[in-house]
Amino acid sequence: MSLYDDIITKAKGLGFEKVYFTQPKTIETGNSRLVSNPLDLYGWTTCVLLLAYPYKPFCEGEVVSGYYLASNESYHKLRDFITWLNDIGIQAKRVSLPVKKAVVSANIGTVGRNTLLRLKEYGSRIVLYAVAIDTCAPLSYNEPAQPCGECRACIDACPGKAIGETPYDYIKSKCLRYYMEDDEYPTWVKENVNMYLGCERCMFACPYNEAVGTLQPSDEVRQAFDFDRILSGDIEKAIQYVGSNVDKKRLMRDAAILKENKK
Ligand code: SF4
Ligand code: SF4
Repeated sequence: MSLYDDIITKAKGLGFEKVYFTQPKTIETGNSRLVSNPLDLYGWTTCVLLLAYPYKPFCEGEVVSGYYLASNESYHKLRDFITWLNDIGIQAKRVSLPVKKAVVSANIGTVGRNTLLRLKEYGSRIVLYAVAIDTCAPLSYNEPAQPCGECRACIDACPGKAIGETPYDYIKSKCLRYYMEDDEYPTWVKENVNMYLGCERCMFACPYNEAVGTLQPSDEVRQAFDFDRILSGDIEKAIQYVGSNVDKKRLMRDAAILKENKK
């Protein structure tokens, strides 16, 4: 087996179903927290691994986003993966690249009208990471585009009318997700909150996500996010599922709103 195969096998074993070996290059970030070129940080980079961790979302109408659980789970798996790379003698560092742009620039995925990146087989139900390594040459990809065509399902599903004809027409301030880090929501956002820390209407509407299917949350997950439990300040179990970066006040804020909206 080649080193490429070893890396792919290890990554898949950890849940990263897709691994791409891409060229390190400058990508416009538009966000000061992101790195535009891994070579600026790690001059030894020969290749950037783009890794996709697919997940099945919880059924529409559930108040917990499967994305948060997958994101927390994959974060820990990524650390195991990087440790393994280091153990076999490869320098490897996670890089906060604008991964969506990196994937598009490497001809791997397509961005839809809902501004979400989608990959063949997994739609936009993926968590993405970039890892700079000092081994392997980049490979070329030419995945066929997955155009939106005549579909307008996400435009119709969006409560804020944030989505337009092209991804460039998306208006942040009309998207519920834009307000998730605020302590208080505007009234129209409050009225449309239907899950903790997010909104997935444009994901559920997208036909490219249908084949992924859905899951029922386990009883443990439901209990962890029970509105009264969260409102009492007992968030320890919920944090175990979604990671300690999630703010306690915001979970409590959403529990109070959801309790009202789901009556
Ligand atoms: S997340 Fe919700 S509010 Fe934001 S674009 Fe999608 S459907 Fe609209
Ligand atoms: S719902 Fe339709 S228009 Fe929106 S991103 Fe998916 S395919 Fe494109």
